[in-house]
Amino acid sequence: MDMKMKAVVLHGPDGYPDNYEVTEIEKPVCGEAEILLRMKAAALCGTDKRIFTGAKTKGVRPDAVVGHEFSGIIEEVGSRVKGYAPGEKVAVANVIPCGHCSACLSGRENACLQRQAIGYEFNGGFEEYILIPRVCIESGNVVKLPEHVSFAAGALIEPLACCIRGLRNTGTTFGDTVLIVGAGPIGLMHLQLSLAAGAKRVIVSEPDASKRALASKLGACRAVDPASEDLTKAVLEETAGEGADRAVMAIGVNALVDEVFRLTKRGGTVCLFAGFPKGKMSEFDPSVIHYNEICVTGSTAYRRADYLQAADMVIEGKIDLDALVSHRFRLEDFRQALEVHMAGTGLKIVIEN
Ligand SMILES: [Zn+2]
Ligand SMILES: [Zn+2]
Repeated sequence: MDMKMKAVVLHGPDGYPDNYEVTEIEKPVCGEAEILLRMKAAALCGTDKRIFTGAKTKGVRPDAVVGHEFSGIIEEVGSRVKGYAPGEKVAVANVIPCGHCSACLSGRENACLQRQAIGYEFNGGFEEYILIPRVCIESGNVVKLPEHVSFAAGALIEPLACCIRGLRNTGTTFGDTVLIVGAGPIGLMHLQLSLAAGAKRVIVSEPDASKRALASKLGACRAVDPASEDLTKAVLEETAGEGADRAVMAIGVNALVDEVFRLTKRGGTVCLFAGFPKGKMSEFDPSVIHYNEICVTGSTAYRRADYLQAADMVIEGKIDLDALVSHRFRLEDFRQALEVHMAGTGLKIVIEN
């Protein structure tokens, strides 16, 4: 008997918003080494914006189901899969490293040269039932969630894991003053993680008033409106004229890079965490990096250890991910959800099923 299910099918990179359909496709059949997951929450990410509009094409197949931040309830477990049972609530780390390339071997499986991922090479979260491939289960990417963690929070463990990777690269530690540029979901995760890592104070720069208010509520000592306030003046005021120990760019705006370098203390670190437009150059004064001995780093995806730690932090109640959800839509209303996401005024938009 043919079984159908709801899914968002992305036909190709060109022609947004006519390049995808909210439709019905065959429900996947669970193989003996696989798990079939009933999606309960799948969040939209900045990367999805770039995928639907064709700005990002790497790893995206024609007629794919994308969505890489999701959680759900196990519907079926293959006969050869051990340790999982139908009815269990789980979140899934979508990144599957190869384990044997030079990046993996040097402890950077997040930057694996043959990285595969659910939401790219394998169908992702924006569908009723998600097939979890064998390689993913065997790698330990399927994480059980206790009752008190919401499905939405479960879905958001994935971006939190990316931020934990970023936090490690930034080196934020006890007593630091941290500057975070941008208080979207990623900036607000970095804010909470910085405080959990022992930061003394976190300064946030964000033009949107409601996001600034949430940043203050989540513990920022100062939320600066860069449209009406001088960010440089504010940061120097808060740091006795020295600049921040660590700075995180949670928005990829090329024109801000130079100012952020200048607002970093001697010996401090800047993490260019956000994705920047491909091929677009930034202008900055290298002598600031030279004389101030500033360390500049980036961050991509996460290692499974980061994902497991992110899950632990959420389970232990150290990070509030539910606070970052601004909109919820049913899977059949995906089109509306994506419009809200594209407008960029909300925080996390979660698709529920
Ligand atoms: Zn994402
Ligand atoms: Zn690899």
